[in-house]
Amino acid sequence: MSLSGVPHNLAVLTSGGDSPGMNAAIRAVIRTAHHYKMKSYVIRDGYNGMINDNIEEFTWEDCGNLLQEGGTVIGTARSSRFREKDGRKQAVYNLISRGIDGLVVIGGDGSLMGANVLSTEWKEHVDTLVSEGKITEDVANSREKLHFVGLSGSIDNDMYGTDNTLGADTALHRICDAIDQIATTASSHKRAFVMEVMGRNCGYLALISAVVTGADWLIIPEDPPGENWEEVMCEVLQKGRDHGKRCSIVVLSEGAKDINGKHISSDDVKNAIHNRLGLDTRITILGHIQRGGSPSAYDRYLATLTGIEAVKTLMNPLIEEPQLIGMTGLQVTSIPVMQAVQENIKMSKAAQQGDFKYILDRKHPSFKQFLELFNTLKLASQPVFETNHEDKPVVAITSVGAPAPGMNAFFRATTRLLLSKGYRVLAIRGGFTGLAEENIEEFNWMSVNGWAPIGGCILGTNRDIPKDNIRTIVQSINKYNIKSLIIVGGFEAYHGVAELYRAKEIYEDLKKLSIVVVPATISNNLPATEISIGIDKALNNMIDATDKIKQSSIGYCNRIFLVQVMGGYCGFQALLGALISGAEGYFLHEDDIRLTNIMDYINQFNYRFSSKNPKLSLFVLNEKTSESYPLHVMQNIFDRETDSSISARTSELGSIQQGGNPTPFDRIVSATFAIGAVDALEINLKQSTPEYTVLGIRKGNIFYSSIKSVVPQMDFKYRRPVDEWWMKLKSYTNLMSYKNLNEEKRKDYLRNSNSRDFF
Ligand code: ADP
Repeated sequence: MSLSGVPHNLAVLTSGGDSPGMNAAIRAVIRTAHHYKMKSYVIRDGYNGMINDNIEEFTWEDCGNLLQEGGTVIGTARSSRFREKDGRKQAVYNLISRGIDGLVVIGGDGSLMGANVLSTEWKEHVDTLVSEGKITEDVANSREKLHFVGLSGSIDNDMYGTDNTLGADTALHRICDAIDQIATTASSHKRAFVMEVMGRNCGYLALISAVVTGADWLIIPEDPPGENWEEVMCEVLQKGRDHGKRCSIVVLSEGAKDINGKHISSDDVKNAIHNRLGLDTRITILGHIQRGGSPSAYDRYLATLTGIEAVKTLMNPLIEEPQLIGMTGLQVTSIPVMQAVQENIKMSKAAQQGDFKYILDRKHPSFKQFLELFNTLKLASQPVFETNHEDKPVVAITSVGAPAPGMNAFFRATTRLLLSKGYRVLAIRGGFTGLAEENIEEFNWMSVNGWAPIGGCILGTNRDIPKDNIRTIVQSINKYNIKSLIIVGGFEAYHGVAELYRAKEIYEDLKKLSIVVVPATISNNLPATEISIGIDKALNNMIDATDKIKQSSIGYCNRIFLVQVMGGYCGFQALLGALISGAEGYFLHEDDIRLTNIMDYINQFNYRFSSKNPKLSLFVLNEKTSESYPLHVMQNIFDRETDSSISARTSELGSIQQGGNPTPFDRIVSATFAIGAVDALEINLKQSTPEYTVLGIRKGNIFYSSIKSVVPQMDFKYRRPVDEWWMKLKSYTNLMSYKNLNEEKRKDYLRNSNSRDFF
């Protein structure tokens, strides 16, 4: 029996423009609804399907293999009939006759507005349907209200109230891949390229892709250029050429206008460059390729968490007002849907009136920060950066620990930010040992040219921790007059800085030094931050592999895959990997795995895999999960103890996870940390005894901690934080697992099982 304040049956629809991740959200919604023992439905083709009665019950197994699919399998549409009251009355009839009084709407602000209109009119339509004899009083009384929640599906990232909309990260993957690739051919021929990207009135995709690919010029609606923009743009592009740049990339948002509201087309930009600079200039309009394909790791994460929270919110009788479920950083957030929609409407009006200050003030602060960052980074060759820095403070940059994708993007942004503020930049190759051995080189603007998209660590890195060489390190610091060190890296970077902090007691000079440490490790095994540079590439590498692994055995045979990922003793990659790959389960060192944990799964496999159709199941574990049950032992147990028709296979991803070019997410994190690192060192340098500062990102914002406060949060034995925030994600992964299915549903599943796989 349901509570009166919560819905009885639930339906989900996708509406408006499609976006990658919608399927993953549908899967999360349907499976969470099953958890609450609700009947759940999908409505095909948006509000049209609601009116045309294109509504279908969806079961647990209907969500098999949905997670990685692009677009929306239930279809989406724009519906003019739904804008008419009569159409909405029909929609209410179709819903109520199935007992549906809960709705999850995945779409843009228009779709959410539509749901709000329907919910407001619900009672009126229900009364009319009773008076027309179409439904009974009893039915009407049992469904008094339409409960709904919204998820924002839009590649444009144009929704107030969430830092990211579903699909925006995947679109950034498409754009950045394209720009990275264009840049190589453009350099070969010394060409200029105009890259036109989507976004309607929102310049998010253009801004972020320009910052993270290192583009030379950017035109977005929120920052309309002045009347003489052609001249200013060409001057900067020419200066870049004078300094040795072989290509020029301009990123243009499709909705860009100049200060007078005149649309700027890609042809306008091309002609300006060609006519003024004589450069061979080409246009690439990315178009719908930006919407397509399998969702990125972040979009799968966003979709799964917000899909689950959407249903939980509906089932919470204390939450009366319809909510928009969104995300900041890696944490779920919510605000009233209509507050978000109203803000969006106000921003659209402001855009029409050219009030861009209003718009910028309402966007996440990072939008403005990134715009400022771009405006600094693009001025590659302005005279101010060519001055003699002899009398300026010296800042040294280096990395410590294993390479992580995004380190080079961090060095690029940090170097240029420092130069733009007048600092001299020394690059140390090889971390603390490089400093002791004076493996040091002065960097100028062009030293980091082209670094943004490159994986690994060009500067070179190692895991050496200062011990016996602290005296020589101090000598180098004095010799080169280094006022601040910026160190990017993992556990050893933190450990090393802690050693230097301790050595302050012996070496007075260390008290005058500022140090800023930036987390960069795919393991994310660091305290005082939710996110480290490099984690996203590793997760994307993982899902590339698991998608293929899953596909390899579809319809073929009963198989259990054990996929071992990196992370040492730290379970971040394994747990998040399990969540976004659709795994059945995970084995983490933190959980002290016993035979009974494995047998728990095995017992249900024998039961579940006993039907005629082949099944497959995926488990993720990290490399140091268990000394007693390492990967091959676990494989033997799964092989031996399950039915003879089931075989267990293993895959060790190893260094594949660490390689490749950084993702847009990693580069965004790198740029955010670059801004934070320069801010932190400026604060430190004003103090007589500067801090040794550790940077972190929490809920999408930069946080500063002192190394002194961070050390007690480090578990040195297992090289991970004492408190691991992501452990709370277990409940999400568990919710999506078959083990979560109640007994009755499991039987249903067996009865109805077909060749669909389980994920
Ligand atoms: P998006 O959801 O991407 O913003 P639209 O603005 O086109 O896309 O809205 C999608 C659909 O939502 C519309 O086709 C219409 O059916 C419905 N809708 C939008 N606004 C309203 C409204 N004010 N009243 C009723 N339905 C609406």
